[in-house]
Amino acid sequence: MDMSPPSYIIVGAGVFGTSTALHLKSRYPDADVTLIDRHDPDAPTRPAASWDWNKVVRADYCDITYCRIALEAQDEWRTDSLWNQFYHETGIYWISRTGFAQKVIDNFKTLGRDAELYALPVQEARKLYGSIFDSADYEGVDKVLINKTSGWAAAKDALQAGIEKAINIGVKYITAEVDLLEFDDEDRCIGVRTGDGSTITANRTVLCTGAFTPALLEKAANSSSRDTLRSQGRMIAAGVTTGLVTLDEETASSFKGMPVCIQENPTHRGPSNGTLPPNSENQIKFWGQSIFHFSQGSSSPSQPPTGADYNQWEVPEVLKVDVAVSNEATFGKRGINWKIHTHRICW
Ligand SMILES: Cc1cc2nc3c(=O)[nH]c(=O)nc-3n(C[C@H](O)[C@H](O)[C@H](O)COP(=O)(O)OP(=O)(O)OC[C@H]3O[C@@H](n4cnc5c(N)ncnc54)[C@H](O)[C@@H]3O)c2cc1C
Repeated sequence: MDMSPPSYIIVGAGVFGTSTALHLKSRYPDADVTLIDRHDPDAPTRPAASWDWNKVVRADYCDITYCRIALEAQDEWRTDSLWNQFYHETGIYWISRTGFAQKVIDNFKTLGRDAELYALPVQEARKLYGSIFDSADYEGVDKVLINKTSGWAAAKDALQAGIEKAINIGVKYITAEVDLLEFDDEDRCIGVRTGDGSTITANRTVLCTGAFTPALLEKAANSSSRDTLRSQGRMIAAGVTTGLVTLDEETASSFKGMPVCIQENPTHRGPSNGTLPPNSENQIKFWGQSIFHFSQGSSSPSQPPTGADYNQWEVPEVLKVDVAVSNEATFGKRGINWKIHTHRICW
């Protein structure tokens, strides 16, 4: 009987991979946990959805299961000293067109969560926060959801801290491109093959490869003749464009108490867009409403471009316009002269 401690390979050091490695090693200190990513642990940027200046932290979901899980995660953001240094509970201002506000309020109530959240008519809502959202697009809007218990996190800094903590408690970090999956004669996945041809084995292999997952599964299916590995539409890689605006000192100071703002779009425009409060460099981030796919050949699944860094900084004009629409929908004439820079496609 094999008495050696269990071993795990986690591929991908985004938030899911890092968190999985961290929790496995914390709970099972004897386990052999290896985290593999194509970028070094201290890489200044990553082609990862988790690498970002900031991300919204919220439990404002129509789906009650999402809402419950997000509330649990938010409690961790508030209380765990590893994460709470990166967390900012600025509140959220959610321009709702489909009864979203009431559904979220109902979910919090059903889950017994006592939080400061309410739905306001547009005329009342636009006076809040120094009226910075007074010229947003409110056409067809029923209510604005205000949830004082939502906010945002400094995503890339939190991710970096998570990776460092994982390494400090004994997770082995390997910088490598995972090319293929390895199988034994009984069809069990026994590890991975990396770009330089090395094989790394473990009892369990967990793919946390984000938007690259369908492409990696496709390669694994082709090389091992295992058709069932193909994602077959079960997951679809998608990109969204972001951009930054650097506010002048005066505007930045009037935006200090700004909440996250999400604009639930009219259907012809797309699902949602929005903006986050200024960071320490007075920059606010917008994301556009288009969620797009990229298929490289008719039979291949959507996947990020094959260039280094997924060509994430090479943003076509049409997607820059997408981000500008987000500014216009959120700030109207207030943001008309703002210059949006540092566009990025986030996969
Ligand atoms: C524009 C945008 C905005 C979002 N905003 C929010 C938000 O505000 N709040 C929120 O909660 N969520 C948000 N999300 C969702 C959230 O960011 C993602 O769900 C989450 O970051 C995904 O993490 P992940 O670890 O699965 O993947 P990723 O963060 O993409 O990490 C995958 C990692 O795997 C590595 N990798 C991939 N393939 C290989 C390989 N073959 N070999 C080695 N390494 C590999 C990559 O380099 C990367 O480091 C947003 C997503 C997008 C795209």
